[in-house]
Amino acid sequence: MKFISTTPNEERVSFKTAVLNGLTQNGALYFPEEIPQLPSSFFENIENLSDHEIAFTALQPYVQENLSDADLKWIIEDAINFPTPVKHIREATYVLELFHGPTESFKDVGARFMSRCLSKFEKSNDKEITILVATSGDTGSAVASGFYDVEGVNVKILFPKDKVSPYQERQMTSLGKNIKAIEVDGTFDDCQRMVKQAFNDHKLRKQVELTSANSINLARLLPQMIYYFLAYKQIKKELKDKSLVVSIPSGNLGNASAGILAKHMGLPIKRFIAAHNANDTFTDYLKTGEYKSKPSVLTFSNAMDVGNPSNYERLAYLYGRNLGAMSAHISAASITDEETVQEMKDTIQETGYLLDPHGAVGKLALERSLKEDELGIFVETAHPNKFQDIIVKAVPDHVLTETSLDGFHKLSMDNDYQQLRDILLS
Ligand SMILES: *Cc1c(COP(=O)(O)O)cnc(C)c1O
Repeated sequence: MKFISTTPNEERVSFKTAVLNGLTQNGALYFPEEIPQLPSSFFENIENLSDHEIAFTALQPYVQENLSDADLKWIIEDAINFPTPVKHIREATYVLELFHGPTESFKDVGARFMSRCLSKFEKSNDKEITILVATSGDTGSAVASGFYDVEGVNVKILFPKDKVSPYQERQMTSLGKNIKAIEVDGTFDDCQRMVKQAFNDHKLRKQVELTSANSINLARLLPQMIYYFLAYKQIKKELKDKSLVVSIPSGNLGNASAGILAKHMGLPIKRFIAAHNANDTFTDYLKTGEYKSKPSVLTFSNAMDVGNPSNYERLAYLYGRNLGAMSAHISAASITDEETVQEMKDTIQETGYLLDPHGAVGKLALERSLKEDELGIFVETAHPNKFQDIIVKAVPDHVLTETSLDGFHKLSMDNDYQQLRDILLS
């Protein structure tokens, strides 16, 4: 299996090269040259397979050039060591909980998988690697935890000052060792722009071995496919003659792209919903056929505050930039902050289930779109604990746990690329 660029160039690289490069030479994204097909017998028999067997079968074709079967097995067992349960909420609505990992967001699997891939790759390369990421919150904590103490890897995380939750900030800044969190006096988009600038800074890259760990990186994206295989395994017996719809709270569309890839491998999910907040670039695109990035706006579901979703390019590539073809598999909705809080209130009253703001966006988008002959799963992408300032708006009597912000290992900088450069070289 080789990986190619989403915009035309000659590159055709292995999994390892794609992971270490992050972006292609012309600044585009890597995409599998062809998508492997799993036989229908695999899906007929999926309930008899262990979660790790399912993960192995789905991932092996993508990575086999660089990882032995034994290494891949070890990586999967070590990276996916927590449950991803599907629970019934009401009527035809189910939730897929992806917050049982160490930092309580779905990003744990991708970050843990990627760091363990690097530690296996490292054996043939003794240069130190610097992981550089921009985060709107959960990427930072998942990458900090997933890469903590991994030998030969330094991690630099840029986050927008005062725009991540205190809980997320603590998860990023309290580790130390090889993890450095840097608060930027700017927005998430500023952070992402400076990261891109560093990757295009060829002089810098001669001195520093830079790798990205954002959801643009295939080693984070591909393992997220597993969630949808495991969800199908659990929901299969409830489906009867209904078709399955999955609603994914979305920002950069990484999780949604992984679900779509799983579908293209044969997974019987009829359609996906990309559930967005007020950052409606993708929702607008599906309405108008014209892709126009916008500045990001701050919302209650801050991990989705993205004005230019990076994985849009992968979806566009996959569907040959054909809006009709894409719309047959994926729709989008934009949910306001008011609707989000109302949905959290209504859901806890009606069902006793405490949603986090991202899950609330996913649930509302799902239930607005679900048809008679469909059964729906929305994804809970993070634990409500991470967003207590929003939880209290919806559920005032919710008991808060204390968050002490020591910020020990935090650096601060202005919205200025030169400062980032100096930090990377120091
Ligand atoms: C990162 C994140 C999202 C958005 O995921 P994408 O893959 O960027 O679309 C949604 N919810 C939570 C809680 C997140 O941390």
